[in-house]
Amino acid sequence: MLIECKQCSAIIDATVLNSYEVCPDPQLGEGLPVKYSFLKCPKCKNPFLVVQENYGEGWDEELFRLFPPQDRRVNPSFPEPIKNTYKEALSCFKGKAFTATIIMCRKTLGLMYLVDKRQVIGYSYIRFKRGAL
Ligand SMILES: [Zn+2]
Repeated sequence: MLIECKQCSAIIDATVLNSYEVCPDPQLGEGLPVKYSFLKCPKCKNPFLVVQENYGEGWDEELFRLFPPQDRRVNPSFPEPIKNTYKEALSCFKGKAFTATIIMCRKTLGLMYLVDKRQVIGYSYIRFKRGAL
């Protein structure tokens, strides 16, 4: 299973040590089948606990990492410019470019303020909503 190892700063093909599947009772109509897997990095031996769901077409290839905790994700309901600046802030932080992280966080907060107050400060709000900022 491919997963990012922060210790190795790389995408690694983790070794599956064990898995446990939970299949809800179909009569109760509760949730989806889920599979928990305990993995280890073949290089640094760090452990991972991941979960996958089955939507009826086999186990989802995208792993949700429970341990170590998943990186913060961008709220998909945010306007595109905010998502982009926040993603860039996360990338800067991941790359240990801390001054750039602060600048991108400041820009993200500024864009959030614009959306919240519907203000136009040197930019067209309509262009902003279209992601043209
Ligand atoms: Zn590793």
